[in-house]
Amino acid sequence: MRKKIVIGNWKMNNDSFETKTLLNKLKKYDFKNDVTIMVSPSFTNLQNSVIYLNDSKIEVIAQNVNESEKGAFTGEVSSSMLKSIGVLRSIIGHSERRLYYNETDNILKKKIYNALKNELKIIFCFGEKISDRKNNQQFELVNNQLSNTLLDLNKSDWENIILAYEPVWAIGTGENATPKQVQEMHFHVRNWVKINYGSKISNTVPILYGGSVKPNNASEIFSQPDVDGGLIGGASLNHNDFIEIINSF
Ligand code: PEP
Repeated sequence: MRKKIVIGNWKMNNDSFETKTLLNKLKKYDFKNDVTIMVSPSFTNLQNSVIYLNDSKIEVIAQNVNESEKGAFTGEVSSSMLKSIGVLRSIIGHSERRLYYNETDNILKKKIYNALKNELKIIFCFGEKISDRKNNQQFELVNNQLSNTLLDLNKSDWENIILAYEPVWAIGTGENATPKQVQEMHFHVRNWVKINYGSKISNTVPILYGGSVKPNNASEIFSQPDVDGGLIGGASLNHNDFIEIINSF
């Protein structure tokens, strides 16, 4: 049985005060279900969030990590820096990083390998653009994104990987992929993992959906057989919406 997971990606939102206010609301809520909850504040708020959530089941994760161990990379943050403040996991490959910061598959592969080598767990994001879907090339595109980055891993690495299918056209647009489109792609991705790493890993790797998940569509998306939860952007900034999404399982 795979874990159910909901992650809030706060992006470049929430200063220190706003972060604490939102964490306080989440921390106080008595979650009845067994969903694994993660939140991803900005770098400046990570350490305080870890301390603040010390006695909570909510995990604090990073939005990004550099592909090198250390050195002259002004403005960057390494795996070991994150681990030293109690952040044990990072998102890698978010479409905003690919688009605005030119993170290519080649760079993302380095980030993945370096993070795992340093025992930082990862959430790896991928997904097609609207032009790919219009040309019915979404499966080919996702295959390429996965093959360019995730081949050559050790089987044991998969214990530390969560996959997140995030069609670019659905992120922050209010237009979610239909539950059928989501299930089709998650089945396809699980099958890619099966072909390359075997059925034991493909049956256990969590695959999340991200792209305009809201309280009114979460439960239908989460009920698809190959969907293990969601990566939530906009709706995770509002505690009521985020809690409702977590309770949608
Ligand atoms: C995201 O940025 O990962 C995301 C899914 O955003 P939103 O929920 O706002 O579409």
